[in-house]
Amino acid sequence: MSSFPSARLPSSCAACRQPGALQVGQTISQGRLTWFERFACACGHGFEADGVGLPTPAARAALLAQSGTAELWLDAEAGRPVLVKLLTLLAGLVEAEASGRLVTLPALAWSGTHAEVAFLQAALEQNGVAARVVHRVAIAETPG
Ligand SMILES: [Zn+2]
Repeated sequence: MSSFPSARLPSSCAACRQPGALQVGQTISQGRLTWFERFACACGHGFEADGVGLPTPAARAALLAQSGTAELWLDAEAGRPVLVKLLTLLAGLVEAEASGRLVTLPALAWSGTHAEVAFLQAALEQNGVAARVVHRVAIAETPG
């Protein structure tokens, strides 16, 4: 299992209304990209949720803001069918939309979190496809 830095989203407790933070993150576990959310309040209320695929847009935005964006580029024609299948599954894209991204090579196939790009890269490698990963530095927001 691979872990990536989690992020915190401002939230408030559903039980006592005190402000808190939702911890959000992504992992790659047994060849699947998964997400989780955790909340714990001093009053004792808390919850955990997780699932397979992409996290909520808000959780993704928090992860991207904290850790920066990663890009997966496809250079070689041969990888196109595998990548189209992966993008269709991961992002719920229709096949035509996934293919459309890859018409002109090199193509930016996916721009997202480091976990997402690492997942795609590993899945491509398993199919013998080399992809190029570019890491964009996070736009640092100094707390306070
Ligand atoms: Zn509470």
